[in-house]
Amino acid sequence: MPVSDYLVTIGLEVHCQIKTKTKMFCSCKAGFGYEPNTNVCPTCLGMPGALPVLNEFAIERTVLTGMMLGCSTPPVSKWDRKNYFYADMPKNYQTSQLDLPLCIGGEVPLYTWAYPADAKVPAAEGAVVRKVKLDHIHLEEDAAKLTHYHGYSLVDYNRGGTPLMEIVSAPDLTSPDETYAYLKSLQQILICGGISDADMEKGQMRCDVNVSLRPKGQKELGAKIEMKNINSMSAARRALIYEIHRQAEELDMGIAQVQSTRRWDDDLGESIVMRTKENAHDYRYHTCPDLIPVHTAPIVEKVEPLMPELPDARYARLQEQYGVPAADAATLVADVALCAYFEEAAALSKAPRKVANWVINGLQAALTEHEQTIAERPLTPAALAGLVDIIEEGIVSNNQAKEVLAELWDKPEVKAADAAAKLGYKKADSGALEALVEKVIAENPDKVALVKAGNTKLINALTGQVMKNSNPKPNPKLVTEILSAKLGL
Ligand code: ZN
Ligand code: MN
Repeated sequence: MPVSDYLVTIGLEVHCQIKTKTKMFCSCKAGFGYEPNTNVCPTCLGMPGALPVLNEFAIERTVLTGMMLGCSTPPVSKWDRKNYFYADMPKNYQTSQLDLPLCIGGEVPLYTWAYPADAKVPAAEGAVVRKVKLDHIHLEEDAAKLTHYHGYSLVDYNRGGTPLMEIVSAPDLTSPDETYAYLKSLQQILICGGISDADMEKGQMRCDVNVSLRPKGQKELGAKIEMKNINSMSAARRALIYEIHRQAEELDMGIAQVQSTRRWDDDLGESIVMRTKENAHDYRYHTCPDLIPVHTAPIVEKVEPLMPELPDARYARLQEQYGVPAADAATLVADVALCAYFEEAAALSKAPRKVANWVINGLQAALTEHEQTIAERPLTPAALAGLVDIIEEGIVSNNQAKEVLAELWDKPEVKAADAAAKLGYKKADSGALEALVEKVIAENPDKVALVKAGNTKLINALTGQVMKNSNPKPNPKLVTEILSAKLGL
């Protein structure tokens, strides 16, 4: 039967590195880019007798994440050991949380703008298509980084013991497109709260997906098949599309699926079975005797004032406060740095809607061209606001403004109006301009007759005549306006 006759159920486990200065249970530096195995100590190397000390900041950031996602925090949260034997974990157990995590329940909103570019976005009232249920969020430590070569492997313990938050969804996603939107929306929320940079390419956010199929009408879920460590949103989407078709084909042939873990090979575009059946009891979880449980009330109280404006609220506010069109608001919300830049510039301009357009188009194009980032601020928000203002005042056209922008680039001290003047763009003396327009009308009776007869395109030729004879160069839009008025169009 066709794939569409199966109900698809997807669940996600997202691991996210928290932006902290130090590791989860010791004072070693967190973060990457250091010489391998230089940020280590007896605790994170699992030496006998070394004891852990909690990183309070990481706990606060996890509780804040829960608050942003509408989770509840139990009054007491505790730590558990998850036993496994592998070179990336020198203690032979990962300190994690099993039954009393820091956050319980909650939901991840799927934002309308977070779907893949080629996906059909379901209709929505505002910014949120629907909310996907979470099971819980817990805090644990990351494992060391292993790099495999032919015949040997190298291990870097710098990453071992750094704070890692795990966001576990309920089996509440129904398609690869939704999964993509879930990851993108979650990433934006994490960045917006300052929790993590959540860059999947850098491994700051990693995801395990599980998917099961069952025929329509069947109540109980099918066998859950998991794919681990998927490192991009589009890879998650591809892996799921592949896996759904693979399972449907096998089910059609009468091959029952077994709970298993598969490895997704994004280059080959296929998944390969790694191991079957793996349950919580395989890890022999038990309460960590070295760490006392956390009483969460004071943490919740401390974190509450840090609650940021969430992307959907910002999306609504940008439209209301600045009159920015919905599509532009979505673009701005998706990039926290760009949005902050826009708001700085908008506050200095009389035409914030136009500022949004320039931030999204002109500025971004120039940044790409110069291979610079918004963080470097080669054009100050004040300069951009000034640029938009001289367009509004009729000193330059949109096209001329691009020349002015090039003139302002990397020169924070130069004002837009001065740069425009240097290029010969001044506010036209309206009397002189009108006289010039009248002269051009008088000199081109044949063209004027054709324009009046309905060939409105010819008005551009007349505008061109006026432009050619003007110095300083006026705004062509203004010239066309004056022409139209004089010709009674
Ligand atoms: Zn350490
Ligand atoms: Mn985990």
